[in-house]
Amino acid sequence: MTYTKETLQEAIVQKLRLNYGCTEKQATDGEIMKACALVLRDIMAERGVRTREEVDSQEKRKVHYMSMEFLMGRSLMKNAYNLELLEPLTGAVEALGFKAADIFDMEPDAGLGNGGLGRLAACYLGSMTTLEIPATGYSICYELGIFKQKIVDGQQVELPDDWKNLGDAWLMPKPQETEEVHFGGKVRTRWDNGHLMVVHEDYTRVLAVPCDMEIAGYDTQQVNTLRLWDAKSPKPIDMKLFSEGQYLRAGEERAMADVISKVLYPEDNHYEGKSLRLKQQYFFVSATMQSITRQHIQTYGTLKNFHEKNIIQINDTHPALVIPELMRILVDDAGLSWDEAWHITTCSVAYTNHTVLAEALECWPQQLFETLLPRVWQILQEIARRWQEKVENFYHDPEKTAKMAVIWDGVVRMANLCIAGGMAINGVSALHSDILRHDVFRDACRMEPEKFKNVTNGVDHRRWLSQINPGLDGLIRELIGDGYLTHAGHLQELDPYAEDGAVLARLEEIKRCNKETFARWAYRQQGVQLNTDAIFNVQVKRLHEYKRQLLNVLHIIALYQQLQDDPDMDFPPQTFLFGAKAAPGYAVAKRIIRLINSLADQVNNDPICKGKLQVVFLENYRVSMAEMLMPASEVSQQISTAGKEASGTGNMKFMMNGALTIGTLDGANVEMHEVLGDENMFLFGLTAEEASHMSRGYDPYLLYTRDPVLRRALDQLKAGFRDGVSYEDLYQRLLFGVDCPADQYLLLADFASYCAASQRVTDTYRDREKWNRMSLHNIARSGIFSADRSVADYADTIWHVPYKK
Ligand SMILES: *Cc1c(COP(=O)(O)O)cnc(C)c1O
Repeated sequence: MTYTKETLQEAIVQKLRLNYGCTEKQATDGEIMKACALVLRDIMAERGVRTREEVDSQEKRKVHYMSMEFLMGRSLMKNAYNLELLEPLTGAVEALGFKAADIFDMEPDAGLGNGGLGRLAACYLGSMTTLEIPATGYSICYELGIFKQKIVDGQQVELPDDWKNLGDAWLMPKPQETEEVHFGGKVRTRWDNGHLMVVHEDYTRVLAVPCDMEIAGYDTQQVNTLRLWDAKSPKPIDMKLFSEGQYLRAGEERAMADVISKVLYPEDNHYEGKSLRLKQQYFFVSATMQSITRQHIQTYGTLKNFHEKNIIQINDTHPALVIPELMRILVDDAGLSWDEAWHITTCSVAYTNHTVLAEALECWPQQLFETLLPRVWQILQEIARRWQEKVENFYHDPEKTAKMAVIWDGVVRMANLCIAGGMAINGVSALHSDILRHDVFRDACRMEPEKFKNVTNGVDHRRWLSQINPGLDGLIRELIGDGYLTHAGHLQELDPYAEDGAVLARLEEIKRCNKETFARWAYRQQGVQLNTDAIFNVQVKRLHEYKRQLLNVLHIIALYQQLQDDPDMDFPPQTFLFGAKAAPGYAVAKRIIRLINSLADQVNNDPICKGKLQVVFLENYRVSMAEMLMPASEVSQQISTAGKEASGTGNMKFMMNGALTIGTLDGANVEMHEVLGDENMFLFGLTAEEASHMSRGYDPYLLYTRDPVLRRALDQLKAGFRDGVSYEDLYQRLLFGVDCPADQYLLLADFASYCAASQRVTDTYRDREKWNRMSLHNIARSGIFSADRSVADYADTIWHVPYKK
């Protein structure tokens, strides 16, 4: 079936009547948007059925990508694009008398994630489908996604994100595939026919109902699925428990189910040791593993070949309980021996590490396991005991035994569990994987070096370039054709145009247009008037001390002071844009947001800054904002303390859209530098190695006394701005530390080098042709950061599955 504007229009009208009981004349923008989604969902559902039949009949190996977060953003334009229906759909909507842009804009972001980790999962699902790998994503169907951020009096206020009101059109509930997850209770063993049977009883039940979202790939008939688990209580009132007099437990099941899939934890790169979080994790893991093993048995009649046909990739340690849960299913339910079950498990689970920050490493108190997951706890103890034996036999070193243990001192260490039970462990950039091998997991790596891999992150370049930047996409197609859509490496063919003045001028014109479009959008969104004649200098990402938004702020303060000293100086105009959510419990991060807003208030209201310096905090940074902003950005701030950012993916989105990077040699910036060279980006600061040596015996106060520019900027923090708020707390934190080391993230150590690099940025910008040439090289060499390349790397080195070349 091929779809035209006319057939799509008819289908939309039909959906309006059947689902919303209205005509196109009566429909609201929201109803039109949902009707469009339902039409595309039907097309994908049919292809999904065909894909699954084919995968099963050909007995292909399947990838199961498990992640507590999937930051999907919007899907309508993306799916229409991938199904190659964007043009007819737009036409159909307009023919019904609606503005297509308004309809697309109605769709809420599916914000089921915090930042990079969740967005990565979303990009990979798209690429796995485009590469025709049979893959399913799994997560929780949070009722509330990442909070909406409001700025009130300069401070962050969090509002609930009830995305499902308008965003549920993509979800297809599959109640017939419900799984049951068990919490608490007691474990008893009994002999049955010479077999030791494990009996788990008196548990609390929670139902896991799948809500499937179909994922279309580009230039393929294949459709994959994102399976989101919704928690439901077994019965409104459980008559059996009730009649047994156990009404308390009946109530418990209700309460537990209501709360498990209620809300996403809003911490990024930070571990929350709450029992509800562990409940979410086990709910997610148990439902998923039961579902995967049930389907496998349906196809093959046994679990003995499970590892040959399935691979389970876990996105950080959050789903690490798949290891004991798969063991439980294989041993308790399928009756396999421990050794057989362990072989299957350790040949199917692979672990991706996402951070080396100590505060992000998951460690659960043993006691939580004992009460909440008694059978899983028994299995964990056995896994830990055998692993410990292996470590002892290898090292004969009590220190190493302690360091590498899965359970130690009453604490369960999830990363060590993943190392013990995983077939592969990978970092997400070359530098990060090296740090894992040589530092964080050094001892495990010496034991089993072949398990340690690298897969550098990537982003879906169809979304993050072609779809969001039609001007640039048009120019690229004109110059090198559309082959780059499926082969991002072809972008290289743009490199020779660096000497073509006409092409460079068009690049500049496209950027100018995108800046104006963004400025109009920002004005509509938050009433701010951006100076489009200024350089758009952007830092958008979660707010975290290691990402060093505060370093950016210190430099802007120094610039402002320079302008105060000499208002007539030759000053290339700059607009500094920030976007960042802070975890609600992260007080320092929230203070930094307030500081940015105080500084913005000061600078934007000072006549000497007019037309020269502007600072704007963009409220509620999210995927759909990033999609507007990336095409308009000229400078990309990637300034984390070297060694701390595992990869970064924002850096890649900027690069693809022709922004130039000012950054440290951290995460994927290292690989970016390898393809660009010093001449096409602005590097500064300590290397990871230097930074790790610095931390010992580092004296920020000495730097404060010696560098007058730095001292004056820091003193301004203490004094505050015209709104009268003092930031002495941040000043103290940098110079002396407040229950933490002074200037942990080495802002002061990198300050001078950062200022010098910023100066190089503005100096270079004056030479428009040179800047445009650098921009073109960035676009041309960004192909390595396509998620297609990352997924191909996973397929080649870890999953061992074929894919479309
Ligand atoms: C890409 C993306 C991120 C990750 O940005 P980093 O700079 O890599 O931390 C976070 N949030 C959103 C909305 C994104 O699109």
